[in-house]
Amino acid sequence: MSIKKQVDVLVIGAGPSGTVAASIMHQKGLDVQIVEKQRFPRFVIGESLLPRCMEALEEAKFLDAVKAKHFQQKDGAKFVMGDQVCDFNFNQQFTPGWNWTWQVPRSEFDKVLADECEKMGIPLHYETEVTDIKIYDDHSITTVVKDGKEETIRAKFIVDGSGYGRVIPRLFGLDKPSTQAPRRTVFCHMTDPKRSEAVEPNRITVFVHDPKTWIWVIPFSNGNTSVGYVGDPEFFEKFPSEIKEQFRALLNAQPELAMRFDESEMVWPEPRFLQSWSSTTSTFYGKGFVLTGNVTEFLDPVFSSGVTLATVSAQHAAHMVVRELNGEQPDWENDYMKKMMQGVDVFRTYVNGWYDGTLFNIFFAGNRNPEIMAQICSVLAGYVWDDSNPFVKNHEKNIRTLSRYLATQKTTI
Ligand SMILES: Cc1cc2nc3c(=O)[nH]c(=O)nc-3n(C[C@H](O)[C@H](O)[C@H](O)COP(=O)(O)OP(=O)(O)OC[C@H]3O[C@@H](n4cnc5c(N)ncnc54)[C@H](O)[C@@H]3O)c2cc1C
Repeated sequence: MSIKKQVDVLVIGAGPSGTVAASIMHQKGLDVQIVEKQRFPRFVIGESLLPRCMEALEEAKFLDAVKAKHFQQKDGAKFVMGDQVCDFNFNQQFTPGWNWTWQVPRSEFDKVLADECEKMGIPLHYETEVTDIKIYDDHSITTVVKDGKEETIRAKFIVDGSGYGRVIPRLFGLDKPSTQAPRRTVFCHMTDPKRSEAVEPNRITVFVHDPKTWIWVIPFSNGNTSVGYVGDPEFFEKFPSEIKEQFRALLNAQPELAMRFDESEMVWPEPRFLQSWSSTTSTFYGKGFVLTGNVTEFLDPVFSSGVTLATVSAQHAAHMVVRELNGEQPDWENDYMKKMMQGVDVFRTYVNGWYDGTLFNIFFAGNRNPEIMAQICSVLAGYVWDDSNPFVKNHEKNIRTLSRYLATQKTTI
């Protein structure tokens, strides 16, 4: 299919934020086109979803197609520090809403969403990279490169869902340094023959390796499990530099992993690594464009917030674009940027509280108060816009106060 030279909305990127936005705008009658730099299926990290993203997938009409793939159901998240365990079950959460989601190999999950967009009739061009954008009063001109050839697309509006590509922040000089310390991850998909001896697969497990280093274990329905270490870059210098040797040594450094994965094979030719992924931008919108998903702000993976923030921002942005192109003057500052920042800021408190140890006092307290744990569980389920939850509304104050109180008690809350 050849590229349409004129559309209402051009969406950059066919990740979850691009496809959710495209589907909702298409359903509202806009003429939408997606351009995607890579060919799908492609690898991207971010395999543990949160229940709140199901609302966005539902509105985008993706749920049935995703269900048909039989991905591993995720009912909660378990945090383990030594012999202390804190198990959050999403059916014991404060906010009414979804109490389950999925653990997904993203190459397969993202392809389902992209295929659904094409089935709906949204043109999606793979191996088509946005290289330049010029914004005029009532339209934009976007340059894309496909098969080595430059093409231009005229659009009334652009949704930038380019994830780590950060197209508009890069082209328009909007990038800002992140407040998060640079961190590194080394990870691999592993066969998991001892899974049944270990634990149930319907949740992810996060192990505290040391106060600054943690490990994700995300079982998939295909029998493989994603395992990754996250820590300060210096932490990894203590291990062999050759990546396969390094990963084996990392597995052996955590007793639960050493036991569970001693007979496992690496599914990939070798483990992958990433470093310094946190980023932010001075604005989430501008004349003729909106940023969604990772392009807005990505903090840290410890609470699996990325895909949820990506799909929820896409959901909101899509409705705002529809209103704008219908001649309204939506309040982008309050109804989009501040709203999205609220969610990011709640997660920021929890991410910071994880790395400075504040949350350890709460998660690993002796007797946990079920009412408070339900409120925190809702945050970990992605319901970070529910102001009736005290641990959302006054997130910073309540987390810090509770942690200080528990540090003096050491037993109950
Ligand atoms: C170590 C680590 C672990 C993580 N774990 C989790 C997790 O467990 N759960 C979770 O929810 N999130 C996790 N994340 C975050 C997750 O990766 C992202 O939040 C999520 O992928 C964002 O989706 P998106 O649609 O915004 O962008 P993406 O999924 O990155 O999609 C963007 C698309 O845009 C395309 N693109 C880029 N540049 C261009 C261009 N110039 N032209 C055209 N197309 C372009 C890309 O090819 C890509 O396909 C993790 C992140 C890291 C770093």
